[in-house]
This record gives sequence, C-alpha cells and structure tokens, in this order.
Amino acid sequence: MSEKRVDNIIIIGGACAGYTAALYTARANLEPLVIEGFAWGGQLQNTTHVENYPGYPEGIMGPEMMQQFRDQAERFGTRFITDDATRVELSDGGIQRVWVGDDEYLAKAVILAMGAEPKRLGLPGEMELSGKGVSTCGVCDGAFFRGEKVIVIGGGDSAMEDSIFISKYASELTIVHRRNEFRASKIMLERAQEIDNINFKTPYLPEEFVAGEDGKLARVRLRNADTGEVEEIEAGGAFVAIGHTPQSAIVEGQVDTDEGGYVQVDEPSTRTRLAGVFAVGDLVDHTYRQAVTAAGSGTKGALDAEWYLRDTPPSLDAVEAEREAAGAAS
Ligand code: NAP
Repeated sequence: MSEKRVDNIIIIGGACAGYTAALYTARANLEPLVIEGFAWGGQLQNTTHVENYPGYPEGIMGPEMMQQFRDQAERFGTRFITDDATRVELSDGGIQRVWVGDDEYLAKAVILAMGAEPKRLGLPGEMELSGKGVSTCGVCDGAFFRGEKVIVIGGGDSAMEDSIFISKYASELTIVHRRNEFRASKIMLERAQEIDNINFKTPYLPEEFVAGEDGKLARVRLRNADTGEVEEIEAGGAFVAIGHTPQSAIVEGQVDTDEGGYVQVDEPSTRTRLAGVFAVGDLVDHTYRQAVTAAGSGTKGALDAEWYLRDTPPSLDAVEAEREAAGAAS
C-alpha cells in the first residue's frame, strides 16, 4: 500500500494573506505547502503603486511586493505548487484533502486564503467583448487604449485608481457611476477630479456593451438612474470596477459562508466551523480588504493553525486510519 505524505499545513491561495500565513508557519518549522494558484499574487498583481503598506515610505509596485512576500516565505522553507486547487474535502478535526487536478494532497490543517475576484455586471456584450474592449483590470489593460475614449464603471476606490492610471493613456475618460455620491475615499476621488481628461457621469447605469463593425467595443448604452433616459456613448474601452467576489466556490457547503459568499469564521479568530480549517484575508473580509489587513489576517490564521496543531491535532489513530484509507483509494 502506498503511503501518502501528510503535511502539517496546506495553505490555499498565494497572495498577501496566504504568503504571510506561510511565512509564520514556516518560521514555526511547520513546512507549509502553499497551493498558490496559477495566477499567484492576487489583486496586487494587478496594482501599480502601493502607497499604503507600512514600511515602504516611497511606495512599492504591487507585483514586486508580492514577489517579496513569496521570497520571504520561501526563505524559511515554504513549498509552493503554482496551480489552482480544484477540489477540497474538508474534515472536522481529521485529515484535510486538497486536489490540484488529479493530484491529492493531505494535511492536518488547512488555511483557506483564496481571496476575492473582480465582480462583473452581467450585461449583454460584457463577456462577448471581454478582451475586445471590456476589461476588469485597468492596470493590466489600460495601456492598450492609448488615444481612445474610455469609460470606467464604479464609484469606489478601485474605479478611481483605475481611472487615474488609464487617464495617462486615454484621450478622454468618463467615470460612470449609478449614484451622485461616491463610495471612494476623499483623497482618491479628489485625485481623479483633478485630472483634466477625466469626466464624471452620474447617476448612470450601464445597460449594454455594443460592438462596432470590427467586432470590438464601440459604444456603451447607459440609462439615467433618475429619469430612465437612455443614451449611448462612444468608448473603445470599458473598465468594470465595481468590487469583488470572494473565491469560496471550492469550499461551498463545507464551511459556512454568508449571503455574499464570504467564509464565516469565529471572530476574532480565523477558525471555521471545522476544527483544523482556518480562513483568512479577503475570503472572509468584506469590510477592510487592504493588503495590510489581509497580511494581518494571514498571521492570525498561521497562529491559530499552529496552536491547533500543538494543542488538539488530529489524533494519531485518526491520521493513521485516514492515511490508510487515502492510500487504499490511490
Ligand atoms: P467598493 O468599495 O465596493 O465599490 C464598488 C463600487 O461599484 C460602488 O461605488 C458601487 O456602487 C458600484 N457598483 C457595485 N455593483 C454595481 C453594479 N451592479 N452596477 C453599477 N455599479 C455598481 O469596491 P472597490 O472600489 O473595489 O473597493 C473595495 C475595497 O478596496 C475598499 O475598501 C477600497 O477602499 C479598497 N481599495 C483601496 C485602494 C487604494 O487605496 N489604493 C484601491 C482599490 C480598492 P454604490 O456605491 O452605489 O454601491
């Protein structure tokens, strides 16, 4: 019978929270395995200057910061799988099982750190024209719209940040927001307002992304939220910046989630309802969602997991029985 390795800790997700959890658990000699995802680095991979992470007085580029997080975790013995976890079978106090395609990994504890992804509007033309003018990542795609008219949809910090970046390339940029008030922080809103080629169009809701003869985005149909009046505005690019959805699909039904899909934990700890399963970062946090709060949450998850393994680890019998079952099944 083949014996499968049972790791101490598997961390699912490679970004602020996951890499910080890895750093702490690696320094505790727990040799964490991070299933970091094919597109590791999370949302900071698509960010330019990060100015609000303490310790970088001049700011740092998001991808560079993620590389540094990863390097620091690696330095203390973290192992990585650069692919997506595809399935989990979580246990209440037993062996945790995680699959990457056909490959199964076993651990005594798991830290869920899958983060959140950009939301979409669900409008006609949105998916069809994705990559042909419609995008959810201003920093990734903004430079493709040099000299073009562009719209950015949303009224939060993401919309402002994307707009400030894209305005360097676009000839004219219109921020379309469904209310007259903005959710964005004052400083970000003011920065956008100060830029000459940025206009604001409120209260308008997008209704459809319309292609031109070349099959690429040409116009966006908008409806005035007060009057109901409909109009089309010319746009070679449209950036959807309306928030994020937690990446909890693979654990749905196994741990508790709220109506938004965020994993619920026994605050202020990171414990889920299953012993040995912890959740951290943007996957649980719909309020703060900052790099520094995600890193802090990763720290809490690491310590909770470490204490769990110290105080109430899966019993050796249970581990042995599950290991045999896993070996027999493989
Ligand atoms: P957010 O704060 O939730 O804002 C989402 C915006 O999209 C809101 O203005 C919302 O309108 C609008 N929206 C949502 N669904 C919509 C729909 N179906 N149709 C039209 N509009 C829709 O999300 P976020 O901007 O991604 O920011 C998330 C968090 O990250 C915040 O805490 C933010 O401060 C932080 N953040 C910080 C920075 C930075 O400091 N550099 C950069 C990016 C994000 P309503 O206002 O009407 O609800």
